Amino acid sequence: MKKLNHLFATLLLALSLTSCQAEEAMETSNTAPKEPTKKVVKTEAEWKKILTAEQFRVARKSGTERPNGAVYKQFKAQESGAYHCAGCGAKLFTSKEKFDAHCGWPAFYDPANAENVATKEDRSLGTVRTEVTCAKCDAHLGHLFKGEGFNTPKDQRYCINGIVLKFVPDKVAEKEEPKKIK
Ligand SMILES: [Zn+2]
Repeated sequence: MKKLNHLFATLLLALSLTSCQAEEAMETSNTAPKEPTKKVVKTEAEWKKILTAEQFRVARKSGTERPNGAVYKQFKAQESGAYHCAGCGAKLFTSKEKFDAHCGWPAFYDPANAENVATKEDRSLGTVRTEVTCAKCDAHLGHLFKGEGFNTPKDQRYCINGIVLKFVPDKVAEKEEPKKIK
């Protein structure tokens, strides 16, 4: 019986560990969020109310999501639509510029709405990289890499954390009833 109890406890522990590591999904919405017209400034406490813990870690603390996670699988499966900032709603990218860089994170070769995507030098980790941020709320989105040889019109890769994006699929045009042939 003791052995069984131990086994049960181990199972419970394993289950709770699994649920703690449950992966987050990319936000999806059928309606486009309201675009901010000016800079969005909030306190950390305010951001915590809007964002999930993982979104907060990535967007406000320059974190990086785990590659090849559920969010990346969702990204690869998504069809035409737009990608907005999960924090402030600004439109950042569209599916027209997305490509599969096989790197484990959503990749785009060009921002759809350049005025909402900003870049700045990032000297963390002992290297010089280009950080990609949301120009409207300063959320950390990912990094920009150039000249890697990708067969895209710009040969640049906006390597973005999917968790900080909100996907809005294009409205599928209502299919017209085929005209009856008399
Ligand atoms: Zn934003």
